[in-house]
Amino acid sequence: MNLLSSVQEQLCRLSMKHASKELEGILENAQHHDWTPLQTLQALLAIELENRQDSGRLRRLKAANFPFHKTLEDFDFGFQNSVSKRQIQQLAEMAWLEGAYNIMFLGPPGVGKTHLAVALGIAAVNAGYRVYFTQMDQLVQFLKTETISRRSKQQLRALYNANLVILDEVGFQPISRQEANLLFGLINRLYQQTSVILTSNKGFEEWGEFLGDPVITAAMLDRLMHKCELFNMTGDSYRLKHRESIFQ
Ligand code: ADP
Ligand code: MG
Repeated sequence: MNLLSSVQEQLCRLSMKHASKELEGILENAQHHDWTPLQTLQALLAIELENRQDSGRLRRLKAANFPFHKTLEDFDFGFQNSVSKRQIQQLAEMAWLEGAYNIMFLGPPGVGKTHLAVALGIAAVNAGYRVYFTQMDQLVQFLKTETISRRSKQQLRALYNANLVILDEVGFQPISRQEANLLFGLINRLYQQTSVILTSNKGFEEWGEFLGDPVITAAMLDRLMHKCELFNMTGDSYRLKHRESIFQ
């Protein structure tokens, strides 16, 4: 075996497959540009690190379960003026995640609650965090079947493993007292450890109704609101304003 193949194989055995693949090209560049040994080594390691970061990012993006891929750049702050671009951009810097703060987007359908939640989720993935997105009715299903379904168990493990949990469409449908208890257990477990972004079309005064129990509601809101940024979103539905017609 020649020296090049031997080093390539060593890199592979060290799990540095990107460096191994690019080694020959790097060495050619090094010769061409007269790099020092240290510069050459640095270029090789940089390739490995960049590729790893990117494959990690894609893995985390897939694991996050986003319902669509929309970013802050796709959001028209001119159409939705109950949230300020400056504030949301500040949130995209992710300092709140380190402090386990929560964010709530409340408001009627179509005002962009899920869009902003997903966009912040994507920004978190890009910054290196693990994110998990779920709709409330799906989450309740997972909680109810945790002991009998492998998928539910896996999904909940992913949720507890995340740095940021996005809980979408809270309050679309009323839930039973047993379900509300399971949900409270989860919120309590995340409390002060994991940030939550929550979207809801219901104001707090209506939470007691869909959770079916004023005591659980108070306890849940207490934990969610302790460190929380609240956005009361208003305005017209973007969906209705930009309705797509079958006819041209
Ligand atoms: P909500 O969760 O409040 O019901 P969504 O976030 O799902 O609303 O928004 C509905 C659709 O309209 C999505 O496709 C979303 O990308 C789009 N949308 C909503 N608000 C805006 C906005 N201000 N700029 C760009 N797209 C928007
Ligand atoms: Mg939504």
